[in-house]
Amino acid sequence: EAFNANVAAASSLNAFIVATPEAAVDAAKAVDAKRAAGEPLGKMGGVPIGMKDLFATKGVQTTAASHILEGFTPQYESTVSQKLWDAGAGMLGKLNLDQFAMGSSNETSYFGNVISPWRRKDGGNAALAPGGSSGGSSAAVAARLAPAATGTDTGGSIRQPAAFTGITGIKPTYGRCSRWGVVAFASSLDQAGPMARDTRDCAIMLEAMAGFDPKDATSLDMPVPEWEAGLNPDMTGKRIGIPREYRMDGMDEDVAKSWDEGIAWMKDAGAEIVDISLPHTKYALPAYYIIAPAEASSNLARYDGVRYGLRDLPDGAGLQDMYAATRADGFGPEVKRRIMIGTYVLSAGFYDAYYNQAQKIRTLIAQDFAKAFGQCDVILAPTCPTAAFALGEKTSDPLAMYLNDVFAVPASLAGLPAMSVPAGMNREGLPLGLQIIGKAFDEQGVLNAGLAIE
Ligand code: GLN
Repeated sequence: EAFNANVAAASSLNAFIVATPEAAVDAAKAVDAKRAAGEPLGKMGGVPIGMKDLFATKGVQTTAASHILEGFTPQYESTVSQKLWDAGAGMLGKLNLDQFAMGSSNETSYFGNVISPWRRKDGGNAALAPGGSSGGSSAAVAARLAPAATGTDTGGSIRQPAAFTGITGIKPTYGRCSRWGVVAFASSLDQAGPMARDTRDCAIMLEAMAGFDPKDATSLDMPVPEWEAGLNPDMTGKRIGIPREYRMDGMDEDVAKSWDEGIAWMKDAGAEIVDISLPHTKYALPAYYIIAPAEASSNLARYDGVRYGLRDLPDGAGLQDMYAATRADGFGPEVKRRIMIGTYVLSAGFYDAYYNQAQKIRTLIAQDFAKAFGQCDVILAPTCPTAAFALGEKTSDPLAMYLNDVFAVPASLAGLPAMSVPAGMNREGLPLGLQIIGKAFDEQGVLNAGLAIE
């Protein structure tokens, strides 16, 4: 109830699209009843969480922060959210996000931008971006409106908002968490994961979220390890790879400093530091911004005004007019931009020049990582090249916005587990994040390294 009150009191952050206070209270009551009956409470027993509004929730509006899905109430529950409820968690509400998870600042939401609870030390009261696309999740956890929240990460959407708001978030290996019932952005990249205050909470929540699901054809058929029980911050004998190519121009001085500090902390924890090379890093961002829109343009074809949410039916209109009117009205500008890029790179004349090339680069990037992991156990790098930027600062320049993902997308393209942990502050008093990238299926190694830093 205290969390419900916080959610109501902090409505100015615009972190929630819908609050569901009864659901959180019901879960707490269910846990009380279990406790009275001497039954096990579940891994997430009684914990109220925020649910990114990309997860379908039965009987509760699910919008992906798009006008085109406004009023859509699913008849089914996503696998990940169902697993969380089965583990005893309760839902505080549906969290705001970038429209269809496309964005890095939460400014593409149809329901208005989210405001980060952070302010610059001497920056007056300028409102800052909470990161994106899981910006409602990051703001809610950072502002203590929820102890934890779900996120999804296609090209950084868990890690970048976690870094911007001083919280912890992990994107597991592709396939760990079921995509069933998660509104699709780019299916070969989309992964759900937890966002919480620290590494231990992330480990607990990820255990509840992960697991094989026959309803998702790319779900990993592997047992879920006991990550929480396996947590160990001792880095003795561990080799930490420092990728040379991530020391790039445009990296903020304070970010470089926090990276060096992280390296020193790792040494203190007993690790050996090794210099590694990921030579195709500079092609990752362009490849991502071909592959992700290509898949998005295909996934979004289902929003035609017939099956879900919005339908605009002008007077005397035929079927084609209805499609066109609904889409023109329902999709925001960033979503339209991605659909156009996606259909262009997939079109017969340009497929080989763009889409095929991007797929080849994706393979080279995965090979870079495979080689590097011959020399190290985990990789340490910044999560983003800068701390949080101001709202409005990058909205007129999509390329500047995309550049913020430069350190996040390589691990996404390779399907690897990657995490952001808080690592100090910049001169303006804003949080910075460090990223740990691990081998496929080695969430444990990633979490342990995160614990060593935190
Ligand atoms: N910011 C990136 C994009 O706009 C990543 C988004 C995400 O991971 N969902 O595509």
